[in-house]
Amino acid sequence: MKTIEQKGMYQKFPRSGKDTRVTHYCAGCGHGIVNKLVAECCAEMGLQDSTIFVDPVGCGVFTYYYWDAAHISAAHGRASAAATGVCRARPDAVTVAYQGDGDLGAIGFNNAFQAASRGEKFGCIFINNSLYGMTGGQMAPTTLEGEKTTTTPFGRDPALTGHPLHVCEVFNQLQAPVYIARVSVADTKRILQCKQAIKRLFEIQRDHKGYALLEILAPCPTNFRMDPLKAAEFCKNEMEAEFPLGTFRDAEKGVTPDAIGAQHQASVALEVKPVPQVASCAELFGVSDGVDAPSAVDDPSVPERRFKFAGYGGQGILSLGICVAEAARLESRHTLWFPSYGPEQRGGSASCSVVVSGTPIGSPTVEHPDVLVCMNQPSYERFVGDVKKGGIVIVDATVPITKQPPEGVKLYQVPAIKMAEDFGVPKAANTMMLAALRAFKCTGLGDDSLETALCASFKKKPQLVEKNRDLLKRAEAALIEKEH
Ligand code: SF4
Repeated sequence: MKTIEQKGMYQKFPRSGKDTRVTHYCAGCGHGIVNKLVAECCAEMGLQDSTIFVDPVGCGVFTYYYWDAAHISAAHGRASAAATGVCRARPDAVTVAYQGDGDLGAIGFNNAFQAASRGEKFGCIFINNSLYGMTGGQMAPTTLEGEKTTTTPFGRDPALTGHPLHVCEVFNQLQAPVYIARVSVADTKRILQCKQAIKRLFEIQRDHKGYALLEILAPCPTNFRMDPLKAAEFCKNEMEAEFPLGTFRDAEKGVTPDAIGAQHQASVALEVKPVPQVASCAELFGVSDGVDAPSAVDDPSVPERRFKFAGYGGQGILSLGICVAEAARLESRHTLWFPSYGPEQRGGSASCSVVVSGTPIGSPTVEHPDVLVCMNQPSYERFVGDVKKGGIVIVDATVPITKQPPEGVKLYQVPAIKMAEDFGVPKAANTMMLAALRAFKCTGLGDDSLETALCASFKKKPQLVEKNRDLLKRAEAALIEKEH
């Protein structure tokens, strides 16, 4: 017999080659709570075999690992468009789209709005956590006025970026939807109310009554930069002040837009604030490292070099790429660093591209790297075939060489993870890889610049500067000795 916890969920969530019962969500994330409620409602109502979920891009992307029902994954912002196709092709099914506020409120707003306007027969569960969660906490249309995000470091200023988007209120202007409600998962009472609202959404879909939108206010402790309790308080106090809870419409129960009466009216008066005066973008985004670096100088004799760094999140892959880009900046080279996150911020795949050139760079993307550094097997298998002839691959020695690099590409297997462990600093495997880049002369950049850039990367942890400088030198010496 299934336990309560397992209702509607798969017994295991196999992911990245591991069987686990742990979801990818951060502790205290509202998605985790909503995922459990959705699974319970679906199972308790006996709808697992007739439900087709349309999964989003965003932190909710992995619902197909968790909910034991049919799934279709949509492109970013297109879940409502995909759900339109699903509910029309399978009018007998229960179709439920799951979307976040970047997904539905920004890139996908129009197709969600038009689907609602047409009264498509699906339910849309819309998670509002006031920012882009998966990509690192950028401003979303739902970001509160004054809320600090990575792209509004001084707080959202409506004069520059507009007011928060009230999705329920906007959709409530349409004629077709049969149900529109906003709930929250910030505390136990709200979670119970949220479950009732999810059930209502499923009921409407089971009975094929029409379009239903359920907005759920959810905490994102990671990007709020708060512990889960404070994040829930923020959700309850700050978010609810902007996005009041309530049932805006339930056609079958006689709740109509006119009966609501107390719709939230956002102020439209714009107070134009002066643009903050800052010395540079680096200062604006708080990335200035105190290292004086000259502007890029054109030098056509310096060839363009393209790098790809890849591994699991948490292995310092992105920092390694920043080090190389920073060293290039110190040498007045043109350079770009371009990160790419996997579907999870923590523990999933991460990679970044770096381009270094003596002339202006056209594109930050790197499809065919000159140098590939891989810290894990999935990254190696994904990128090794792309390396240019004459290029270099440096891969951690724990990675099995299941594929040979293309002809003319040199492969170095470097025990970076083991060396870091042997040196007593397991987190310094990326410093070992930087040592390998220096030892094998892969960057075209000076050793001093790479070392200075490494030290600058520890500006928030100055106690680690000397340790990493020492590790860099010891690892480089060991690798050179091994190579000879
Ligand atoms: S980043 Fe935020 S929304 Fe995404 S899983 Fe973590 S807490 Fe949840």
